[in-house]
Amino acid sequence: MIICKVGDEEKAECGMCEAFRMVSYQLRDVPFDDGSGIVKNIIAGVCKTCGNVAVIPFQSVPAIKKQLQVQRKAVESRVPAHMIDLLNLASAELGATPDFVPLLLKYYIHQLASDPEAAVRLVTLLTSELATGLANKRLSLKGREIGNDIEKLKGLSQIDNTTELLKGVVLMIHNDLLVEPDAQRIALLKSFVATVA
Ligand SMILES: [Zn+2]
Repeated sequence: MIICKVGDEEKAECGMCEAFRMVSYQLRDVPFDDGSGIVKNIIAGVCKTCGNVAVIPFQSVPAIKKQLQVQRKAVESRVPAHMIDLLNLASAELGATPDFVPLLLKYYIHQLASDPEAAVRLVTLLTSELATGLANKRLSLKGREIGNDIEKLKGLSQIDNTTELLKGVVLMIHNDLLVEPDAQRIALLKSFVATVA
C-alpha cells in the first residue's frame, strides 16, 4: 500500500471537475455520502482546481470505520429514576407518550450542541436538588449524530461526564416545559410531536 503524507501530490480523478486533476493530500473533515455524518480530520486528496475532496486513500479506511462505529453506537447511561419520570411528564405535556422521550432528549442535545449560551446553563442546573439521587434507571439514545452532539455539548458546557450532562439536559427540559413553560419552544415541540407521532 502506498501511504500518502500530508502535502503529497498526484494526479487523480476529481468527481466534481469530472477530469483528472492534481490533488494534494490534506487533513479534511469528510462528510459521508448520504450526508448523515462526518469523518473528522482524515488525510484526503483535495483537488487543486476545485478544492473538493477527490480521493480518500485506503489508509484512511480504518479511521472512517472507527468513526462510523462511534456514530452508530448507542449512548448508554444510568440516571436517577425520578429523571425518567420528569421526561415522561414533559412528554405528556406535549401530548406525547413516553415513546417520545428519546427524541425529545436528542432534540435538546442537538439544539444545545449549537447554542453555547444555553449550554453553559447546564452546569447551574446540576446544582439543583433534583440532580441528586441514585442512578438506577437506564437511559439509552441511539442514532448516528447523538455521539457527535454529546461530544460537542461536553465541550461547550464543560461537563465531561456523560451521565452528568444528560442529567443537566433532563433538568433543562423539565425547566422549559414544566417549571417555567417556554411557550414558543412548547409550540415547536408540539408540532414536532404531531409530525413524528
Ligand atoms: Zn476538482
